[in-house]
Amino acid sequence: MGRNITSNLRIGFGEDTHRLEPGGPLRLGGVDVPHDRQLIGHSDADVLLHAVTDALLGAATLPDIGRIFPNTDEANRNRDSAELLVIAANKVAKAGYSIVNLDCVVHAQRPKLADYLDAIRHRVANILGLDPHQIGLKAKTGEGVGPVGHEEAIVARCVALLEEMDA
Ligand code: MG
Repeated sequence: MGRNITSNLRIGFGEDTHRLEPGGPLRLGGVDVPHDRQLIGHSDADVLLHAVTDALLGAATLPDIGRIFPNTDEANRNRDSAELLVIAANKVAKAGYSIVNLDCVVHAQRPKLADYLDAIRHRVANILGLDPHQIGLKAKTGEGVGPVGHEEAIVARCVALLEEMDA
């Protein structure tokens, strides 16, 4: 079955959820946000960077974050997710794509993230070598219901647009 791709643009979607436990700070998008709860996971549990990583990998039809960095691998324990994102972004570039833009949403009941959105956008741009103008970021609460609203978890979602580079 031959491929018949008529556009050099590729869209990708990434989603991730991590559990919250008492502690802090809250690592989000590579920024430590002061908070009385923290995200739990095998790596540093940076839910936003994981969603970004999967959006980029998905747009390039590469294996997802869990397959590239399995949580059964001790080397990934407490690992800085910025490091994972750089490795994934390099794979995407090697596959022949450049990033056009990202748009992300973080669902967290607390803390109020409005004051941190710009710092997080700049940090994500910095990790990826992009302009902050290429990173969209919004924060939503969980409306007091469900795992997000009850502060049991934080969810992040991201879409990424890639453009195939001239060979
Ligand atoms: Mg994750």
